[in-house]
Amino acid sequence: MPENRPVWARAVVTGGAGFLGRHLCRRLLAAGTAVVCVDNLLTSSRANLTGLRTEPGFSFSQADVSERLDIDGAVDLIVHLASPASPIDYHRHPLATLTAGSAGTQNALDLAARTGARFVLTSTSEVYGDPAVSPQPEHYWGNVNPVGPRSVYDEAKRFAEALTMAYRRAGTVDTGIVRIFNTYGPGMRLDDGRIVPTFACQALRGEPLTVTGDGSQTRSLCHVDDTVRGILAVAASDRPGPVNIGNPDEASVLEIAQRIIALTGSASGIKHIPFPEDDPMTRCPDITLARQQLGWEPRIGWRDGLAETLKWFAAQLGLASGLEVSA
Ligand code: NAD
Repeated sequence: MPENRPVWARAVVTGGAGFLGRHLCRRLLAAGTAVVCVDNLLTSSRANLTGLRTEPGFSFSQADVSERLDIDGAVDLIVHLASPASPIDYHRHPLATLTAGSAGTQNALDLAARTGARFVLTSTSEVYGDPAVSPQPEHYWGNVNPVGPRSVYDEAKRFAEALTMAYRRAGTVDTGIVRIFNTYGPGMRLDDGRIVPTFACQALRGEPLTVTGDGSQTRSLCHVDDTVRGILAVAASDRPGPVNIGNPDEASVLEIAQRIIALTGSASGIKHIPFPEDDPMTRCPDITLARQQLGWEPRIGWRDGLAETLKWFAAQLGLASGLEVSA
């Protein structure tokens, strides 16, 4: 995205008060795009918007996207992020997760149809379920349990993708789909239950890191700055996707725990806990398409990305002064 000329005059970011949303809003504002953030604060809080609210060009509408979505004035881009995203959150809000993916996506698409905005759906690697293919390319259709505990999220996103493609095929909206893989970085909720906040808080507090199963299952962690750059690359293109955006640097969960222990210099050990139902055994993006079509690839390696993020978590826990995170 050119740094000094906005690609879009005005964007709507649904779910803009959440982890990815706040980074995205900030990046759009920095590029000169006015941003309307729409969020019902289901898994975030008003405090998240503290820095953003004073930025010129930023406005906030507290609204549920599962109800009709009305925004006055011209809109060039809609990025639809609104949905519970961490397993803790979608287990706590199963119906809200299904309606955010279904009615919420339809309302955001209808707003795009009325305004002529480009619409970008933030889908997820969870559409691949527990994959039989690794790394996962976009043409792999996945292995999802449609009635398991994770299905409220996985199937909502699969439905959202189908809905997005139906609007595109009908010629009513210019759409793009991004399949985001595990993203981490400063600004995550300490208690959101995802791997990096969980291990970071445990290591920083000197508690054992809770590794599910034997820890041989893999994850691929992408720094939030890279993910946001990928979302914007899809938005700025005319590509329909789906396009995988993630970091193919795959590591076992045990290895990630050990890296976090080493980087924090923590005395914590590892505690193995039961493997959750339907948790994927492998997770690694094939990013050939993003490289070829968008010229996108991640730039931030795990060592720098985790060191920065752990410092941020340490500050949140009030440990900043005593902690030396080695990069
Ligand atoms: P998050 O929970 O931090 O943010 C989601 C935001 O959506 C929250 O602010 C929440 O209040 C809002 N929201 C939920 N339901 C809503 C509704 N009905 N109406 C209005 N707002 C609503 O999650 P995140 O990590 O920032 O994820 C954002 C999006 O990216 C989600 O759609 C998620 O599926 C997708 N994604 C994220 C990751 C990741 O690793 N962070 C990976 C894959 C996909």
